[in-house]
Amino acid sequence: MTTFQAPKGTYDLLPPDSATFLAVREALAAPLKNSGYGYVETPGFENVDLFARGVGESTDIVTKEMYAFETKGGDRLALRPEGTASVLRAALQANLQNEGNLPVKLWYSGSYYRYERPQKGRYRHFSQIGAEAIGAEDPVLDAELIILADQAYRSLGLRDFRILLNSLGDKECRPVYRAALQEFLRALDLDEDTRRRIEINPLRVLDDKRESVQKQLTGAPLLGDYLCDACKAYHEQVRELLAEAGVDYEDDPRLVRGLDYYTRTTFEFVHDGLGSQSAVGGGGRYDGLSEMIGGPSLPSVGWALGVDRTVLALEAEGVKLELPPATSVFAVPMGEQARRVLFGTVTALRRAGIAADFAFGGRGLKGAMKMANRSGARYAVIAGERDLDEGVVQLKNLESGEQSAVEVDAVVDRIARELGR
Ligand code: AMP
Repeated sequence: MTTFQAPKGTYDLLPPDSATFLAVREALAAPLKNSGYGYVETPGFENVDLFARGVGESTDIVTKEMYAFETKGGDRLALRPEGTASVLRAALQANLQNEGNLPVKLWYSGSYYRYERPQKGRYRHFSQIGAEAIGAEDPVLDAELIILADQAYRSLGLRDFRILLNSLGDKECRPVYRAALQEFLRALDLDEDTRRRIEINPLRVLDDKRESVQKQLTGAPLLGDYLCDACKAYHEQVRELLAEAGVDYEDDPRLVRGLDYYTRTTFEFVHDGLGSQSAVGGGGRYDGLSEMIGGPSLPSVGWALGVDRTVLALEAEGVKLELPPATSVFAVPMGEQARRVLFGTVTALRRAGIAADFAFGGRGLKGAMKMANRSGARYAVIAGERDLDEGVVQLKNLESGEQSAVEVDAVVDRIARELGR
């Protein structure tokens, strides 16, 4: 029989590394939970048109990278390539915007799927923590989200990241810029695909990573020079709020991002230790998206932080998270009677909320003690026939090596006390 491998572009999370992954997820979400964002969970797949209309018909994500399929019932669905469109769809469906508390602030955590060319930091299945603030146009909200992402990364100990900031304008000024950019781009020497992109979404051409294209883009008109007064004032406020919060950022007039729905504020968190896949997170304002997917006008802003790349960034900086050991007490029984008694102790410890594990499989003392040490537990509870005849078990402090006999019935209380419970 052939053995199966994880599909191309995916990887499994296994202990002990999976503990770091979980801790990163928690750390990225923690500032949101503390700032009025409520948890939202949506299905892993949606109607394919939600993404086609929401993310954009001219984006790589929709044209090349979507896992789209038809169900047996004839529904056309796609695995979600990103979170924003789904979250907004869910909010609209539940009419959250009518409950009078705008903005609706939501956070999420989940798996996303893109049929990309796999490489380090770029996978076909990856994990994001995201936040969306729906239904308010307020530069404080844009600043809040950027500050919270900065706080999340810093809480993990990351330092070598930069925040790139830009404004993409709005429906007043962007069309004027778009036309100017198109005129500039049409005069360049570009391939068929890119020429087509000029007509559908010229801003995306600025995002082209190829050097042959980038070289020709020197001298391209910049959106910053075309922003209308309202967009300029809005952007200036976001910049001032970030500066007041002590959050450093770099103005990047070329930052457009790979999704069509952005307006005004856009930003990306890039990490300098990650090579070509340097974006650890990104987001921006998407004032037109609700209308694009059939909803009322709901100016909104959000971001998504990549968990996989954040873990890689920690490795690149040599940051090791301090994770509490999963097990506090490890039970080592010698003989059948001890197995029964100590399994009872382990069960009682667990019921008391103390993390405990057991040397399963009838190992000898040496092998079982090795397991106890490897588990990271602070204490081992050891018992043989002779101990039990005397009504005691041996409680060993695995850090100091000290060992003492404790009455069987008293051991749970004693451990609880020692652990400061
Ligand atoms: P995006 O919506 O494309 O800006 O994605 C937001 C974040 O998700 C990025 O900054 C990455 O950290 C992460 N991300 C996006 N695509 C991938 C991928 N294919 N593999 C791993 N992480 C990804």
